[in-house]
Amino acid sequence: MFFQRLLRQDARGQIVKQYKNPRPKDWASICMRPVFERASLEDTISKIFEDVRINGDKALKSLTKKYDGIDLANVMLSKEEISELASTTPPDLKMAILTAYKNILSFHRLQVPLNLKPYETSRGVVCWQENKAIEKVGLYIPGGSAPLISTVLMLGIPARLAGCSEVILCTPPSADGLVNPAICLAAQLVGVSKIIRVGGVQAIAGLTFGTESVPAVNKVFGPGNQYVSAAKEYARRYGVGLDLPAGPSEIMVIADETAIPAFVAADLLSQAEHGPDSQVVLVASKTEVIDKVQREILKQLKDLPRREIVIKALENSFCVLFKDVKTAMDFANTYAPEHLILSVANPEKIAGQVINAGSVFLGNFTPESAGDYASGTNHTLPTGGWTKAYGSLGVDDFLKKISFQNISKDGLEGLASIITTIAEAEGLGAHARAVIKRLNFKENI
Ligand SMILES: [Zn+2]
Repeated sequence: MFFQRLLRQDARGQIVKQYKNPRPKDWASICMRPVFERASLEDTISKIFEDVRINGDKALKSLTKKYDGIDLANVMLSKEEISELASTTPPDLKMAILTAYKNILSFHRLQVPLNLKPYETSRGVVCWQENKAIEKVGLYIPGGSAPLISTVLMLGIPARLAGCSEVILCTPPSADGLVNPAICLAAQLVGVSKIIRVGGVQAIAGLTFGTESVPAVNKVFGPGNQYVSAAKEYARRYGVGLDLPAGPSEIMVIADETAIPAFVAADLLSQAEHGPDSQVVLVASKTEVIDKVQREILKQLKDLPRREIVIKALENSFCVLFKDVKTAMDFANTYAPEHLILSVANPEKIAGQVINAGSVFLGNFTPESAGDYASGTNHTLPTGGWTKAYGSLGVDDFLKKISFQNISKDGLEGLASIITTIAEAEGLGAHARAVIKRLNFKENI
C-alpha cells in the first residue's frame, strides 16, 4: 500500500505525496490526473461565437477592447508592421531563434511522407494514396506573460513542410496593441501568411467562421488556457479540425542512483512552472534518491521567478518508489506521460520498453527544455494520459491521406462476385447493382 509522509513541518515546495512499491491494481488510481473544477464556459463561448459570426472584424475589435483593453484600428498586422517589429528582436534572441529553427526544420523535414505508388491489388485493380496538405490552418499562440515564441516554430515549420497554402497566426495583442517582436520574427521565418492580433475565444471564433480580415480555416492548432481549449472544442461543431488533446503539462522522471539529484530537481521544476495545474512525477529505485531530489527542489526553488506557480504544481505531484527500473517502466507506461526522462544507467537499454509517452529524454544531459526549444523534436504533445492514443505533433498532422483507385472492366469482373456477395449480406442491394450494371453494359458501337 502507499504511504504518505511529510518531510518537513512546512511542506511548501516539496512533493508530499509518496507511494512505496504500490501494487499494479492501485496504479490506475495513482495515475489519475488531478481534476479541477471548471465552470461551464459554454454560455460565454456560444455568445462570443455568435457575435463574431454576425459582426466579423467589428466583433473582434470590440471583444479585444473588452477583454484585453486594447483599441485596434486593424486586427491584422500589415507586412510592414511585421517586418518592423521583427527587426527589433534583440540580436542574441534572433540568433537563438534562427538556430532552433534550423534544428527543428531539419528534423521535421525527415517526417515528410512519401506518396504510396500505384499498386495492383488484383489484376486490373490499381490503388494508390497521396498526401495532400490541409489548405488553411490556424495557429493559436498565447501571448501575455509568456509569449510562446517557440510554439510558432513548432507549429509553423510542419505546416510549411506539409505545404499548407494559408497559415494564419492568431495571438493576443501586447499592451501597446502590437505583437511581441520575436513572435513576428519566428512567423516570418516559417512563412506565416497573416498575423491576427486577436486572442482568446474570439480568435478561435474568427478562425472558425472567417471575418473580413481572418480567413476561415480547416484546422486549428496550438495551446491555450481553458477558454481557448473549450473554444477549440466548440469550433469542432462547425467542422473545424483540431490538433491534439492537450491540457496541463506533465513530466515523469525515472531516476536510479546514477541520476544527478540537482538535474532531476531542475527538470521537475522546469515542468512545474508551466502552470499551477501541471503535474510532475518522480519515480525512483531508492528512497535516498527521492530525499536528495526533494532537498534539491527546496534549494533551487528559492530564487525561481515563477515560484508560486511551481509550489502549487508540486501540490498536485507525487513520488513513487519501486524496487527496480523494469517495474518503474511498467508504471510509466500506465501513467503515459507527456514527457518522460530516463535518468538511469544505460537509458538506451530501457528506452525500447517505452510504449506510452509523448517525448522521451535519455540520460543525465538531456533536459526536457532541450525538446521544448531547440533539439529539433516537437514540443506539442498529448497530455492527461492521451499518449496511449496519440503521438507527438508533426508534419502528418498538417496532411490528409487521400486514396485513389482505377479499375479496368476486366478488373471489375474479377472483383464483382466479392463485392456483390458482401453488399447483399449487408442488405445494400444498390451497391451490388452498381457493379452488375457495369458488367451487363453493352456499348452501342
Ligand atoms: Zn516544458
